[in-house]
Amino acid sequence: MDDYKLLIDLHKQGHRQGPGGDAETEIALNLTMIDRNARLKIADIGCGTGASTLLLARLLKNSHITAVDFLQDFLDVLIKRAEKAGIANRISSLARSMEDLPFANEELDLIWSEGAIYNIGFEKGVKKWRRYLKTNGLLVASEITWISDSRPAEIQTHWDKEYPEIDLASQKFRILEKHGYSPIGYFILPQHCWLDAYYRPMQDRFDDFLDRNGNSKEACEIVAAEKHEIYLYEKFKEHVSYGVYIGRKL
Ligand code: SAH
Repeated sequence: MDDYKLLIDLHKQGHRQGPGGDAETEIALNLTMIDRNARLKIADIGCGTGASTLLLARLLKNSHITAVDFLQDFLDVLIKRAEKAGIANRISSLARSMEDLPFANEELDLIWSEGAIYNIGFEKGVKKWRRYLKTNGLLVASEITWISDSRPAEIQTHWDKEYPEIDLASQKFRILEKHGYSPIGYFILPQHCWLDAYYRPMQDRFDDFLDRNGNSKEACEIVAAEKHEIYLYEKFKEHVSYGVYIGRKL
């Protein structure tokens, strides 16, 4: 995973590797209306260093969570954190691509995925992962979403290039419906999930990251790309956020 060495180096110290927040993870859990005492089999796909995995394991005391990410370095951090919190016995880690998961049909009660499904595309993900869920099983996925009906060209062009699947929530609901889920809940992540929980802590790591990597061209390019993303978010935060979608498998 040499291609990812620098990205891992920049992100693995972060509490999160994408916008989100513990309070928002818990709001999403509440919207599932799951019984917190139930014995649940859960997968957290694209879990990073495990912000949501660890919180879910704490809140759902009889659950078992498989934490999936294709970067072993992130999973190593997750497992250390779980051990420290005394909940490692209810978490397994799986270094695997989200395209090719080893779960059996109808094995899971809950699939969780924060800030990660875009890596294979929202539609492909909800379609592919559906068979792992029991009937009435739940999917919780956050996905970059337009929150205004029309946007300035600068931000429209950026996202059309980066992730052409970006759309309005109404279209994301439609995709869930098309693939056999009933959308039962939705909210958008508030700005503090981007700025306080993700971008500010990342900005604080830029200098050390550049020092550690000798200000290499590649490291400078990564920082420049992150700075550009932050600039765009700050300028256009009335137009774009992550939507958190909760779907029940029909
Ligand atoms: N859910 C975490 C991490 C989000 S960042 C959080 O909210 O903090 C997206 C994560 O998806 C990263 O950890 C990245 O390593 C992982 N990822 C990207 N592409 C993947 C793939 N194809 N299969 C599995 N994981 C992937």
